[in-house]
Amino acid sequence: MATLPVINRSLCMGCGACTGVCPADALSLEGGAAVCDAAKCTGCGVCAGACPVEAISGFGKAASAPAADSAAPAAKGEVWVFAEQTGGRVATVTYELLGEGRKLADALGVRLAAVLLGSGTEAMARALGERGADRVYVADRPELAVFQDERYAAVIADAVRREKPQILLCGATAIGRSVASRIAVGLGTGLTADCTALAIDPETRHLLQTRPAFGGNILATIETPDHRPQMATVRPKVMREAAAVPGRVVETVPLLDGAEEGVVEAVLRARTERLGFEASTGDGGVNLAGADIIVAGGRGMQKAENFALLRELAEVLGGAVGASRAAVDAGWIPYAHQVGQTGRTVCPKIYFACGISGQIQHLAGMSSSDIVVAINRDPAAPIFQHAAYGLVGDALEIVPALTKAFRRRLGR
Ligand code: FAD
Repeated sequence: MATLPVINRSLCMGCGACTGVCPADALSLEGGAAVCDAAKCTGCGVCAGACPVEAISGFGKAASAPAADSAAPAAKGEVWVFAEQTGGRVATVTYELLGEGRKLADALGVRLAAVLLGSGTEAMARALGERGADRVYVADRPELAVFQDERYAAVIADAVRREKPQILLCGATAIGRSVASRIAVGLGTGLTADCTALAIDPETRHLLQTRPAFGGNILATIETPDHRPQMATVRPKVMREAAAVPGRVVETVPLLDGAEEGVVEAVLRARTERLGFEASTGDGGVNLAGADIIVAGGRGMQKAENFALLRELAEVLGGAVGASRAAVDAGWIPYAHQVGQTGRTVCPKIYFACGISGQIQHLAGMSSSDIVVAINRDPAAPIFQHAAYGLVGDALEIVPALTKAFRRRLGR
C-alpha cells in the first residue's frame, strides 16, 4: 500500500516546488500550502526531495489515512522563550521560563534561545544570557519600544518561520497570552494556555504540557504532535527562576536588520495606535504576585474585622495580605487578595497561612513559597504538611503576638 507524505503546514511556504515535480499530479496548493490527494499519491517521495524548507516528510502513513494536510514535526529546532519586558525591564516570568526551558532544551539536546523585542535592548539581552539563554534573537526598533500585540506577533511569527524553533514558551500574563494566541493563529499551530508543568516525552520527544482542567479538578497533559512550534503559556510564579551567572556571554542575532525596508514596514504595520497608559486601580493596589512576604488568612480568622490583625502583621513585615477563597466568599476581603487555583499564584519568601486548612486548591497558588508558616488550631490540618514552621493554636492570639515580637525586633 502506498504511503503518503506528511506536510508540515507551518513550514510550507506554498512555493509549489513539490507540485511541479510530483509524477502522479497528487499535490496541489490550497490556502497557501501544499495538500496531497491520497487517491493519486504513489508514495514515491520525490516531493520531499524538492521541498526547499523540508516541510515534507513522513511516508509513514497508509494511503488510506486521511489526506495529509496536517504537519509533521521537524526533527531539529531550538527551544524559544518570549522575553517579556516592560519599560526596559525583563519580566520575572521570562527568567522562570528560561529555567524551565533549559531543562527542555537539554532533554532535546538543542539550543535555548530567547526572543526579545523592544528599543534599547542591549542590557536586557545581556541579562537573558546571564539567565541561561544560549542565543537571543533581538528586534530593536523604536516601533517596538512598548508592547503592541499585532506588531510583536508579526515579528515573532516571521522569525519562527525562518528559524523554525520546535517549542515557543510565553508567560501566561496579559502580554504573553495576547501575543501567544496571535502567533499561534498566524502559524496555524496549537497553543496550550496556562500550563503549570512542562516536560519532554522521552519516546516521542514531544512537549508534554500540563494544566489544570475542569475547574482544577484534574490535571490534563496535552501534546501537539502534528504542528510546530509547540506553543504554551506558563503561569507565572509556578516555576523557579533560572539563576543568574554574571558575565555569561550570549550570542545575539538581529531579527530585522538587513531586511529590506519594505519588508520591515510590512511586518511592523499595526492597525492600532498606543495613545497612553494608565495603571489599573481595580485590584485596590494589591501586588500579591510581587510580594516577598504574604500574611494570608482563611475561614479560621472568623470575621472580616479580624483581618485587621493580618494587615498589622503584614505592615510590620513590609508584606501583603492574602486570603483563602473561603474568606473571600464570606466577603471578609476582596477577591484581589485570593490566593489559589482560582486566585493569584504567588511565590513569596515567607507565606503565613493563618486559619487556612490547606486544601489542594489553595496550595495550587502558594506551594512554591520558600517558607510556609502555618498557624492553625487543628494539629491535623493538611497545611502543616507543607509548612516549614507550624504553630498550633488560636490565630487570633498568635498573630498579634507575632506582630508585637516582630515590631520589637525590627524596631518598627
Ligand atoms: P477551611 O477549609 O474551612 O479551613 C479553616 C481552617 O481554620 C481549619 O483548618 C481550622 O482548623 C482553622 N481554624 C479555625 N479557627 C481557627 C483559629 N481561631 N485559629 C487558627 N485556626 C483556626 N480555595 C482557595 O483558597 N483558593 C482558590 O483559588 C480556590 N479555588 C477553588 C477552585 C475550585 C474549583 C474549588 C472546588 C475550590 C476552590 N477553593 C479555593 C476552595 C478550597 O477547596 C477550600 O474550600 C478553601 O481553600 C478553604 O479555605 P480555608 O482553608 O480558609 O477554610
